[in-house]
Amino acid sequence: MRKWNFSPGPAVIPYDVLLEVQSELLEFNDSGMSVMEMSHRTDLYSSIAFEAKKDLIDILNIPDNYDVLFLQGGATHQFSMIPLNFSKLNSAAAYITTGTWTKRAFEEGSKIAKIDQIFTSEDKNFTYAPNFKDLKIPEDASYVHYCPNETIQGVSFDYIPLINNPLIADMSSSILSEPIDVSKFSLIYASAQKNIGPSGLTIVIIKKDFMNQGNKNLTNLLRYSVHSKQDSMLNTPPTFSWYIAGKVFKWIKKQGGLDYFKEINNLKASKLYEFIDNSELYINPVEKKNRSIMNIPFILKKNNLESAFLKESHEAGLLNLKGHFTVGGMRASIYNAMPLEGVEDLIKFMNDFELKCS
Ligand code: PMP
Repeated sequence: MRKWNFSPGPAVIPYDVLLEVQSELLEFNDSGMSVMEMSHRTDLYSSIAFEAKKDLIDILNIPDNYDVLFLQGGATHQFSMIPLNFSKLNSAAAYITTGTWTKRAFEEGSKIAKIDQIFTSEDKNFTYAPNFKDLKIPEDASYVHYCPNETIQGVSFDYIPLINNPLIADMSSSILSEPIDVSKFSLIYASAQKNIGPSGLTIVIIKKDFMNQGNKNLTNLLRYSVHSKQDSMLNTPPTFSWYIAGKVFKWIKKQGGLDYFKEINNLKASKLYEFIDNSELYINPVEKKNRSIMNIPFILKKNNLESAFLKESHEAGLLNLKGHFTVGGMRASIYNAMPLEGVEDLIKFMNDFELKCS
Protein backbone atom coordinates (compact mmCIF):
# COMPACT_ATOMS: atom_id res chain seq x y z
CA MET A 1 0.00 0.00 0.00
CA ARG A 2 2.80 2.40 0.90
CA LYS A 3 4.36 4.34 -1.96
CA TRP A 4 7.66 6.19 -2.38
CA ASN A 5 7.23 9.56 -0.68
CA PHE A 6 9.70 12.23 -1.83
CA SER A 7 8.17 14.96 0.35
CA PRO A 8 10.57 17.59 1.73
CA GLY A 9 8.82 17.44 5.10
CA PRO A 10 6.90 16.18 6.90
CA ALA A 11 8.69 13.35 5.21
CA VAL A 12 8.88 9.58 5.10
CA ILE A 13 9.39 7.81 8.43
CA PRO A 14 11.11 4.39 8.54
CA TYR A 15 8.57 1.61 8.04
CA ASP A 16 9.94 -0.42 10.97
CA VAL A 17 9.42 2.59 13.23
CA LEU A 18 5.82 2.98 12.09
CA LEU A 19 5.18 -0.73 12.72
CA GLU A 20 6.56 -0.47 16.24
CA VAL A 21 4.53 2.64 16.95
CA GLN A 22 1.46 0.85 15.63
CA SER A 23 2.06 -2.08 17.96
CA GLU A 24 2.32 0.26 20.94
CA LEU A 25 -0.38 2.69 19.94
CA LEU A 26 -3.16 1.42 22.20
CA GLU A 27 -1.00 0.50 25.13
CA PHE A 28 2.64 1.26 25.87
CA ASN A 29 4.49 -1.25 28.05
CA ASP A 30 1.65 -2.38 30.32
CA SER A 31 0.94 1.21 31.27
CA GLY A 32 -2.74 0.95 30.37
CA MET A 33 -2.47 3.85 27.93
CA SER A 34 -0.89 5.16 24.75
CA VAL A 35 2.20 7.39 24.98
CA MET A 36 -0.05 10.09 23.51
CA GLU A 37 -2.16 10.00 26.65
CA MET A 38 0.70 9.96 29.14
CA SER A 39 1.72 12.89 31.33
CA HIS A 40 5.20 14.18 30.61
CA ARG A 41 5.73 14.29 34.40
CA THR A 42 5.53 10.50 34.82
CA ASP A 43 8.60 8.32 35.40
CA LEU A 44 7.62 6.22 32.41
CA TYR A 45 7.54 9.17 30.02
CA SER A 46 10.74 10.59 31.51
CA SER A 47 12.52 7.35 30.71
CA ILE A 48 11.30 7.49 27.09
CA ALA A 49 12.46 11.12 26.80
CA PHE A 50 15.78 10.55 28.51
CA GLU A 51 16.61 7.52 26.40
CA ALA A 52 15.87 9.40 23.18
CA LYS A 53 18.18 12.20 24.26
CA LYS A 54 20.91 9.72 25.20
CA ASP A 55 20.64 7.97 21.84
CA LEU A 56 20.88 11.25 19.95
CA ILE A 57 23.97 12.19 21.96
CA ASP A 58 25.49 8.80 21.08
CA ILE A 59 24.65 9.00 17.38
CA LEU A 60 26.06 12.52 16.93
CA ASN A 61 28.84 12.05 19.44
CA ILE A 62 27.78 15.24 21.22
CA PRO A 63 30.42 16.43 23.72
CA ASP A 64 29.60 16.83 27.44
CA ASN A 65 29.82 20.62 27.29
CA TYR A 66 26.67 20.70 25.13
CA ASP A 67 23.01 20.24 26.00
CA VAL A 68 20.31 18.87 23.73
CA LEU A 69 16.87 20.47 23.91
CA PHE A 70 13.58 19.08 22.62
CA LEU A 71 11.47 22.15 21.89
CA GLN A 72 8.37 23.24 20.00
CA GLY A 73 7.92 26.01 17.46
CA GLY A 74 9.82 24.57 14.50
CA ALA A 75 12.98 25.94 12.97
CA THR A 76 11.00 29.11 12.29
CA HIS A 77 10.76 29.83 16.00
CA GLN A 78 14.55 29.59 16.17
CA PHE A 79 14.72 32.47 13.65
CA SER A 80 13.49 34.64 16.57
CA MET A 81 14.89 32.82 19.59
CA ILE A 82 18.48 32.97 18.35
CA PRO A 83 18.67 36.76 17.85
CA LEU A 84 16.63 37.38 20.99
CA ASN A 85 19.16 35.42 23.03
CA PHE A 86 22.44 36.16 21.35
CA SER A 87 22.35 39.44 19.45
CA LYS A 88 24.21 42.40 20.94
CA LEU A 89 23.37 46.07 20.95
CA ASN A 90 26.74 47.29 19.76
CA SER A 91 27.67 44.65 17.18
CA ALA A 92 25.72 42.90 14.47
CA ALA A 93 25.23 39.19 13.94
CA ALA A 94 26.44 37.97 10.52
CA TYR A 95 24.03 36.03 8.29
CA ILE A 96 24.90 34.06 5.17
CA THR A 97 22.03 33.67 2.74
CA THR A 98 22.11 30.71 0.38
CA GLY A 99 18.42 30.01 -0.12
CA THR A 100 14.85 30.57 1.03
CA TRP A 101 15.34 29.51 4.65
CA THR A 102 18.42 31.59 5.39
CA LYS A 103 16.75 34.51 3.65
CA ARG A 104 13.79 34.09 5.94
CA ALA A 105 16.01 33.72 9.02
CA PHE A 106 17.70 37.00 8.08
CA GLU A 107 14.43 38.83 7.43
CA GLU A 108 12.82 37.62 10.63
CA GLY A 109 15.90 38.25 12.75
CA SER A 110 16.30 41.76 11.32
CA LYS A 111 12.93 42.74 12.77
CA ILE A 112 14.22 42.30 16.30
CA ALA A 113 18.01 42.59 16.24
CA LYS A 114 21.03 44.09 14.61
CA ILE A 115 21.99 41.76 11.78
CA ASP A 116 24.19 42.10 8.70
CA GLN A 117 23.69 39.88 5.72
CA ILE A 118 27.35 39.43 4.79
CA PHE A 119 26.65 37.22 1.79
CA THR A 120 23.79 36.28 -0.47
CA SER A 121 23.74 34.10 -3.57
CA GLU A 122 20.34 35.44 -4.63
CA ASP A 123 22.00 37.08 -7.66
CA LYS A 124 22.47 33.58 -9.06
CA ASN A 125 19.11 32.24 -7.90
CA PHE A 126 20.65 30.50 -4.90
CA THR A 127 22.54 27.96 -6.97
CA TYR A 128 25.77 27.94 -5.01
CA ALA A 129 27.33 28.40 -1.58
CA PRO A 130 30.30 30.65 -0.85
CA ASN A 131 33.72 29.76 0.41
CA PHE A 132 33.91 31.05 3.98
CA LYS A 133 37.51 32.09 3.31
CA ASP A 134 36.19 34.73 0.88
CA LEU A 135 33.73 36.20 3.39
CA LYS A 136 34.46 39.21 5.52
CA ILE A 137 33.15 38.20 8.91
CA PRO A 138 33.44 41.14 11.31
CA GLU A 139 35.60 40.22 14.28
CA ASP A 140 32.94 41.39 16.69
CA ALA A 141 29.99 39.63 15.03
CA SER A 142 27.97 38.22 17.92
CA TYR A 143 27.43 35.02 15.95
CA VAL A 144 27.42 33.73 12.39
CA HIS A 145 24.28 32.05 11.05
CA TYR A 146 24.15 29.76 8.02
CA CYS A 147 22.31 26.72 6.67
CA PRO A 148 24.44 23.72 5.66
CA ASN A 149 21.62 22.43 3.46
CA GLU A 150 18.96 24.62 1.89
CA THR A 151 15.94 22.36 1.49
CA ILE A 152 14.20 24.24 -1.32
CA GLN A 153 17.14 25.03 -3.61
CA GLY A 154 19.10 21.85 -2.76
CA VAL A 155 22.28 23.81 -2.02
CA SER A 156 24.73 22.56 0.56
CA PHE A 157 28.15 23.34 1.96
CA ASP A 158 30.70 20.59 1.42
CA TYR A 159 32.65 21.57 4.56
CA ILE A 160 32.12 22.90 8.09
CA PRO A 161 33.40 26.47 8.35
CA LEU A 162 36.17 27.16 10.83
CA ILE A 163 35.65 30.61 12.29
CA ASN A 164 36.42 32.50 15.49
CA ASN A 165 32.87 33.75 16.12
CA PRO A 166 30.13 31.48 17.51
CA LEU A 167 28.77 29.41 14.63
CA ILE A 168 25.02 28.70 14.38
CA ALA A 169 23.58 26.28 11.84
CA ASP A 170 20.07 25.49 10.66
CA MET A 171 20.43 21.74 10.07
CA SER A 172 16.73 21.04 9.57
CA SER A 173 17.24 19.08 6.37
CA SER A 174 20.75 17.72 6.90
CA ILE A 175 20.96 16.58 10.52
CA LEU A 176 21.66 12.86 10.86
CA SER A 177 22.41 12.47 7.14
CA GLU A 178 26.13 12.04 7.92
CA PRO A 179 28.49 12.42 10.90
CA ILE A 180 29.30 16.00 11.94
CA ASP A 181 31.79 17.49 14.35
CA VAL A 182 29.41 19.14 16.82
CA SER A 183 32.30 20.84 18.63
CA LYS A 184 32.66 23.29 15.70
CA PHE A 185 29.23 24.80 16.47
CA SER A 186 27.84 26.94 19.26
CA LEU A 187 24.28 26.07 18.33
CA ILE A 188 22.67 23.64 15.91
CA TYR A 189 18.92 23.58 15.37
CA ALA A 190 16.65 21.36 13.32
CA SER A 191 12.97 20.82 12.76
CA ALA A 192 12.21 17.16 13.26
CA GLN A 193 10.05 16.48 10.24
CA LYS A 194 12.81 15.35 7.86
CA ASN A 195 15.39 12.97 9.35
CA ILE A 196 14.15 12.86 12.94
CA GLY A 197 10.44 12.07 13.01
CA PRO A 198 7.07 13.81 13.01
CA SER A 199 6.67 17.58 12.99
CA GLY A 200 6.05 19.50 16.20
CA LEU A 201 9.50 18.86 17.61
CA THR A 202 12.61 20.99 17.21
CA ILE A 203 16.02 19.81 18.30
CA VAL A 204 18.55 22.34 19.60
CA ILE A 205 22.12 21.29 20.36
CA ILE A 206 23.78 24.09 22.27
CA LYS A 207 27.17 24.71 23.82
CA LYS A 208 26.58 25.33 27.52
CA ASP A 209 28.90 28.31 27.98
CA PHE A 210 27.35 30.00 24.92
CA MET A 211 23.86 29.24 26.23
CA ASN A 212 24.65 30.83 29.56
CA GLN A 213 25.56 34.08 27.82
CA GLY A 214 21.99 34.36 26.46
CA ASN A 215 19.85 37.39 27.22
CA LYS A 216 18.39 37.01 30.72
CA ASN A 217 15.65 39.61 30.19
CA LEU A 218 13.39 37.33 28.22
CA THR A 219 10.33 35.36 29.18
CA ASN A 220 11.17 31.80 30.15
CA LEU A 221 9.80 30.21 26.99
CA LEU A 222 12.34 32.17 24.95
CA ARG A 223 15.39 31.28 27.04
CA TYR A 224 17.53 28.29 26.10
CA SER A 225 19.06 28.17 29.58
CA VAL A 226 15.64 27.82 31.24
CA HIS A 227 14.64 25.01 28.87
CA SER A 228 17.92 23.34 29.64
CA LYS A 229 17.53 23.63 33.42
CA GLN A 230 14.08 22.08 33.15
CA ASP A 231 15.19 19.20 30.87
CA SER A 232 13.01 20.57 28.03
CA MET A 233 9.94 20.25 30.25
CA LEU A 234 9.39 23.89 31.10
CA ASN A 235 5.99 23.43 29.53
CA THR A 236 4.43 20.38 27.91
CA PRO A 237 6.79 19.17 25.21
CA PRO A 238 5.60 17.50 21.98
CA THR A 239 5.52 14.16 23.78
CA PHE A 240 4.43 11.88 20.94
CA SER A 241 6.90 13.35 18.43
CA TRP A 242 9.69 13.02 20.98
CA TYR A 243 8.78 9.35 21.54
CA ILE A 244 8.80 8.60 17.81
CA ALA A 245 12.08 10.50 17.39
CA GLY A 246 13.51 8.14 20.01
CA LYS A 247 12.47 5.20 17.88
CA VAL A 248 14.06 6.77 14.79
CA PHE A 249 17.32 7.21 16.73
CA LYS A 250 17.27 3.50 17.67
CA TRP A 251 16.61 2.65 14.02
CA ILE A 252 19.57 4.79 12.92
CA LYS A 253 21.82 2.97 15.40
CA LYS A 254 20.56 -0.42 14.22
CA GLN A 255 21.30 0.40 10.57
CA GLY A 256 24.92 1.24 11.44
CA GLY A 257 24.82 4.85 12.59
CA LEU A 258 25.78 7.95 10.66
CA ASP A 259 28.74 6.35 8.86
CA TYR A 260 26.28 3.98 7.26
CA PHE A 261 23.91 6.81 6.33
CA LYS A 262 26.69 8.94 4.89
CA GLU A 263 27.60 6.11 2.52
CA ILE A 264 24.10 5.17 1.47
CA ASN A 265 22.95 8.80 1.18
CA ASN A 266 25.91 9.63 -1.06
CA LEU A 267 25.19 6.58 -3.16
CA LYS A 268 21.50 7.46 -3.57
CA ALA A 269 22.25 11.09 -4.45
CA SER A 270 25.11 10.33 -6.82
CA LYS A 271 22.98 7.84 -8.76
CA LEU A 272 20.26 10.43 -9.23
CA TYR A 273 22.67 13.26 -10.15
CA GLU A 274 24.50 11.00 -12.59
CA PHE A 275 21.25 10.14 -14.29
CA ILE A 276 20.16 13.80 -14.43
CA ASP A 277 23.53 14.95 -15.81
CA ASN A 278 23.43 12.34 -18.56
CA SER A 279 19.86 13.02 -19.57
CA GLU A 280 18.63 15.34 -22.31
CA LEU A 281 15.45 16.30 -20.50
CA TYR A 282 16.39 17.05 -16.88
CA ILE A 283 18.78 19.62 -15.38
CA ASN A 284 19.94 20.33 -11.84
CA PRO A 285 21.06 23.98 -11.71
CA VAL A 286 23.24 23.78 -8.57
CA GLU A 287 27.03 24.02 -8.71
CA LYS A 288 28.36 20.50 -8.48
CA LYS A 289 30.33 20.92 -5.27
CA ASN A 290 27.28 22.42 -3.56
CA ARG A 291 24.78 19.77 -4.51
CA SER A 292 22.65 18.48 -1.66
CA ILE A 293 22.52 14.78 -0.89
CA MET A 294 19.08 15.22 0.74
CA ASN A 295 17.06 17.47 -1.59
CA ILE A 296 17.56 17.19 -5.32
CA PRO A 297 15.70 19.75 -7.42
CA PHE A 298 15.46 19.28 -11.17
CA ILE A 299 13.90 21.16 -14.01
CA LEU A 300 12.41 19.69 -17.16
CA LYS A 301 13.86 21.43 -20.20
CA LYS A 302 10.43 21.31 -21.83
CA ASN A 303 8.10 23.25 -19.51
CA ASN A 304 4.97 21.88 -21.03
CA LEU A 305 5.84 18.39 -19.78
CA GLU A 306 5.72 19.29 -16.07
CA SER A 307 2.10 18.47 -15.39
CA ALA A 308 2.33 15.18 -17.31
CA PHE A 309 5.47 14.32 -15.32
CA LEU A 310 3.73 14.99 -12.03
CA LYS A 311 0.56 13.14 -12.96
CA GLU A 312 2.35 10.08 -14.31
CA SER A 313 4.89 9.91 -11.50
CA HIS A 314 2.05 10.03 -8.98
CA GLU A 315 0.28 7.23 -10.80
CA ALA A 316 3.52 5.24 -10.73
CA GLY A 317 3.59 5.53 -6.92
CA LEU A 318 6.24 8.27 -6.77
CA LEU A 319 4.68 10.94 -4.56
CA ASN A 320 5.37 14.61 -3.82
CA LEU A 321 7.90 15.39 -6.54
CA LYS A 322 6.61 18.90 -7.16
CA GLY A 323 9.21 21.55 -6.39
CA HIS A 324 8.53 24.35 -3.89
CA PHE A 325 5.99 26.80 -5.30
CA THR A 326 8.51 29.66 -5.10
CA VAL A 327 11.02 27.97 -7.42
CA GLY A 328 8.89 25.57 -9.51
CA GLY A 329 10.24 22.48 -11.23
CA MET A 330 10.62 19.19 -9.39
CA ARG A 331 12.40 18.13 -6.25
CA ALA A 332 13.15 14.70 -4.85
CA SER A 333 13.82 14.73 -1.12
CA ILE A 334 15.68 11.56 -0.29
CA TYR A 335 16.16 11.52 3.47
CA ASN A 336 17.51 8.62 5.53
CA ALA A 337 14.22 6.75 5.46
CA MET A 338 14.08 6.68 1.63
CA PRO A 339 15.73 3.43 0.58
CA LEU A 340 17.99 3.07 -2.46
CA GLU A 341 15.20 1.08 -4.11
CA GLY A 342 12.95 4.18 -4.04
CA VAL A 343 15.62 6.26 -5.79
CA GLU A 344 16.18 3.51 -8.36
CA ASP A 345 12.45 3.38 -9.08
CA LEU A 346 12.44 7.16 -9.52
CA ILE A 347 15.37 7.01 -11.96
CA LYS A 348 13.65 4.25 -13.92
CA PHE A 349 10.46 6.30 -14.15
CA MET A 350 12.37 9.45 -15.21
CA ASN A 351 14.22 7.49 -17.86
CA ASP A 352 11.03 5.90 -19.25
CA PHE A 353 9.31 9.30 -19.24
CA GLU A 354 12.19 10.89 -21.13
CA LEU A 355 12.24 8.13 -23.76
CA LYS A 356 8.50 8.38 -24.22
CA CYS A 357 8.65 12.16 -24.69
CA SER A 358 11.63 12.36 -27.03
N1 PMP B 1 14.87 25.72 7.77
C1 PMP B 1 14.96 24.74 6.87
C2 PMP B 1 16.30 24.42 6.29
C3 PMP B 1 13.81 24.04 6.48
O1 PMP B 1 13.89 23.08 5.56
C4 PMP B 1 12.57 24.37 7.06
C5 PMP B 1 11.28 23.64 6.73
N2 PMP B 1 11.20 23.02 5.57
C6 PMP B 1 12.53 25.41 7.99
C7 PMP B 1 13.68 26.05 8.34
C8 PMP B 1 11.22 25.80 8.67
O2 PMP B 1 10.84 24.78 9.51
P1 PMP B 1 9.47 24.81 10.31
O3 PMP B 1 8.39 24.74 9.30
O4 PMP B 1 9.54 23.57 11.17
O5 PMP B 1 9.46 26.05 11.12
